Amino acid sequence: MKGYYDVVEDGGSAVLEQVEAQQERVDQGLAGVRNVLAVGSGKGGVGKSTMTMQLACALRERGNSVSILDADLNGPSQARLGAVQDGILVPSESGAQVPTTRSGIGVVSMGTLYPEPRAIEFASVASGSSHTWRATREFTVLRELLAGMSWGTLDYLLVDLPPGVERIVQFAELLGETALFVLIAIPSDLARGIVARSIDALERTPNRTLGYIENMDGYYCSDCETVKPLYPAQSQVKLDLPCLGSVPFDPELAALCDRGGSLEDAPRLVSREPVGQIADEICRLVSECSAFAKERA
Ligand SMILES: [Zn+2]
Repeated sequence: MKGYYDVVEDGGSAVLEQVEAQQERVDQGLAGVRNVLAVGSGKGGVGKSTMTMQLACALRERGNSVSILDADLNGPSQARLGAVQDGILVPSESGAQVPTTRSGIGVVSMGTLYPEPRAIEFASVASGSSHTWRATREFTVLRELLAGMSWGTLDYLLVDLPPGVERIVQFAELLGETALFVLIAIPSDLARGIVARSIDALERTPNRTLGYIENMDGYYCSDCETVKPLYPAQSQVKLDLPCLGSVPFDPELAALCDRGGSLEDAPRLVSREPVGQIADEICRLVSECSAFAKERA
């Protein structure tokens, strides 16, 4: 059997051409999207999906048109967070119509296509070899979602990334070099060590990372109405990125997410104000980026 490095280019399979053709359709599909903002971490369990939906709500409240692509195909949360589990994808001439939340946030998530608890199978050519095909199949599905949806004109397309440091680079390639990144960290050295790896990985891409959000920075106790520490000491791992803001863990928000309620139904959440400030900061940085791009053009 040939080793991986013995195979020249795509080994005569014409896969590369197909990917290029599909990538062209992705670029066309996203032509009306002003800003693609990928929300990642590298680490799972840091509240990335909830933060993505909260940012979408805050950006929407500030008058932006926003959609979310839930890129976590086998761990989709956005359908539940936006209460669009029953959102059916209706085909139209310009692509499938994006299901929207009550306030008009578009949500494309496998959670609407695959009811729980079904898991997506990445089909392989021979049984027992799905591991060989997983990444190829996964990104083919993602390119199809990006190319096949009618995204329309959007101020922001937020992309909720799955965990995995190496996939961050693959997503940067998929979304193109103008896509911006925001990383989610928590005050735990274990998690921050992984976020630091994501920063390192992103430094090797042409993409700009706006900064990181410190999530779960203490938890809010509704009895004493104060934020108490959630992690024992100050984190030792410093992240080489600007901090866009800190958000406390909000038990009320966690309960709401588990109930399957839409975040739009909870205007009084403790995390609402800090997330709003982060959204303002993101808007400011994004307008700075586009002014810079115009200057260079
Ligand atoms: Zn208390």
